[in-house]
Amino acid sequence: MKILEIRENTASIRSPIRNAVIDFSQMTISVVALITDAVRDGRPVIGYGFHSNGRYAQGGILRERFIPRLMAADADGLLDEHGENLDPFRIWDCFMRNEKPGGHGDRAVAAGALDMAVWDAAAKTAGLPLWKLLSERYNGGRFDERVAIYPGGGYYYPGKEVAQLQAEMRGYDEAGYRVAKMKIGGADLDTDLRRIEGALQVLGDGARLAVDANGRFDLPTAAAYARAIEPYGLFWYEEPGDPLDYALQAELGAIYPRSMATGENLFSTPDVVNLIRFGGMRPELDWIQADPALSYGLTEYLRLIETIESLGWSRRRLMPHGGHQLSLNIAAGLQIGGTESYPAVFQPYGGFADDIPIENGTTRAHDTPGIGVELKAEMFSELRRLLET
Ligand code: MG
Repeated sequence: MKILEIRENTASIRSPIRNAVIDFSQMTISVVALITDAVRDGRPVIGYGFHSNGRYAQGGILRERFIPRLMAADADGLLDEHGENLDPFRIWDCFMRNEKPGGHGDRAVAAGALDMAVWDAAAKTAGLPLWKLLSERYNGGRFDERVAIYPGGGYYYPGKEVAQLQAEMRGYDEAGYRVAKMKIGGADLDTDLRRIEGALQVLGDGARLAVDANGRFDLPTAAAYARAIEPYGLFWYEEPGDPLDYALQAELGAIYPRSMATGENLFSTPDVVNLIRFGGMRPELDWIQADPALSYGLTEYLRLIETIESLGWSRRRLMPHGGHQLSLNIAAGLQIGGTESYPAVFQPYGGFADDIPIENGTTRAHDTPGIGVELKAEMFSELRRLLET
């Protein structure tokens, strides 16, 4: 078996929404197709990958460094010990050759897209859904039948008033979600409190609503919001300060007695280790949102799970950002806490298989080989068009 070709392209996921820090009017992602000479069910095995929203397409890194390194490598050196399937760890080591440690940024994003295509191809070659392959290889055959999911939403749409936010929350409730999330920090505190109260009129219980400041606040502002929202008993208070300001996170953890979540902008295991060591994160309360499709891929995420467990954290406190099928496979097969979902935004890449329903805030993984991109029709046809497969 060998890799015949790796293609990449840039896909637009532009939309008029904004959070506290950025708008998404120019947002793009990289999409990748990894074409092999393996054939399953009469069709060539092609792995598809893309990275998550929030970071722009990384075609330069893919075209100039990662893809040429793989195509120049000895093909057998990229296979597992039986020579019958791709070895994602050997492939990862190959495309990351001559890359210095640290400085995890856009490179981690490029790796996330490419690594997803590798795992999709490996699972298809094995004839297994990715979650089942992960369960069998790395989790003693255990898996979760149902995976907890929640929609990332509640953005600041231009001109959006409380009534529109309520309509969005009602839609999530009717679609079967239990917990929903909304943005804060893009308006003043009084306005945000009115928006939160509006959302709670629909959802009822504070435990059904999470809020996300997208790293906007300095410590005094983050603390003022913490004091103001504490009585609502919210599901979590997300990314109050700069993602790398572990001192702010630690100070806030000392005064806010409820759950917090952060980590979507930490792109490596060493960064998450620093968050745990220096961010005052509370293993019984808080959530880590590192996103495998932004941070060197599933290959690195397997190392992340092992590392946080060695630091006394349960993998159930992992709830990745991103709302894509890779994290759903990881959640089901490796039994982490769950994953974000994007039923309404970042289409066609957000959300899961078209025909698998959401019930009581959970969904289930798919039954076909690979990550399941073929089961999301609009996304799959766009991937095939952009990558000419
Ligand atoms: Mg967030």
